[in-house]
Amino acid sequence: MLSRASYLPIAGAFLAVLFVCLGLYQTPLLDAPRIGSRPDYVLKLQLPAPGEVDLPSIAGGGDASRPLVVIDAGHGGHDTGAIAGNRQEKDIVLSLAKRLRDELLADGRVRVALTREDDRFLVLEERAEIARRLDADLFLSIHADSAGEITEAAGASIYTLSADASSQAAARYAARENSADIINGVQLERGNETVATILVELSQRRAVEEAGAFAQAIEEAGTGRIAFREPARRSAPFVVLKAPDIPSVLFEAGFISNAAEAQVLDSAEGRERFAEIMARAILNYFDAVPPVQDPQPAPRPANEAPSARPSIGSVL
Ligand SMILES: [Zn+2]
Repeated sequence: MLSRASYLPIAGAFLAVLFVCLGLYQTPLLDAPRIGSRPDYVLKLQLPAPGEVDLPSIAGGGDASRPLVVIDAGHGGHDTGAIAGNRQEKDIVLSLAKRLRDELLADGRVRVALTREDDRFLVLEERAEIARRLDADLFLSIHADSAGEITEAAGASIYTLSADASSQAAARYAARENSADIINGVQLERGNETVATILVELSQRRAVEEAGAFAQAIEEAGTGRIAFREPARRSAPFVVLKAPDIPSVLFEAGFISNAAEAQVLDSAEGRERFAEIMARAILNYFDAVPPVQDPQPAPRPANEAPSARPSIGSVL
């Protein structure tokens, strides 16, 4: 979610551009008509369009027969995510993602790529699109939440995609997470929604079913070791889960507004416990649902035109 503090850089940039525009407005070249007493100006922000973000490197060797897991640390850059005290969601989830990557690489049975390895902003669609361009076999987005003044809220949740949110709470949560793509009230570019084939629908259905198997593996690996909300497994229309051909799960690691839980999530011990549980879940998942071998597993370059694979969002 966007906090009040996260608007400060945006507001600063807005004012800077506004002052420049007001200065130029005094020149004959930009002698535009006035609307009432207000200047007529346009504010434009340069944002990465889908397909323009560089692909991250894949860690874990060049053996493409090993499954590829793409780990997505939520939020980043101006989008801090939840804030509680001096803790920001974007930092906590990045540390969790890196610790999980290290755990998986130490095991050696899978390859790993992170959608972001530093404090940068990514458009929501770009996160799943990175996984698709890398031909990933599994996508995991990591988040942490804040319940504001309700400091007793606690527990982890495992989300898979659902066209209809399983509850109004899930829908509200999805709407808030999806708001990361709205800046200054302007909706960023969405994938086109024109293509919907039966094959894509079948692929989507299979991806959701496999995501369900992964969600179950997470719950089984975590039971008795971490606290889950009730129910642990939920569904919501998160944009990052909409890849039509990659099993995708969003893991809510817990509430940073809960002092005890925040301390665990922000500690080396907590990160290690998370990484052990999630790595076990990932490996158990691949034991149960071996990835389909792609005859041409080479990743597509970032600047390549969209292939036969439809854009994310084209079917939902
Ligand atoms: Zn989040």
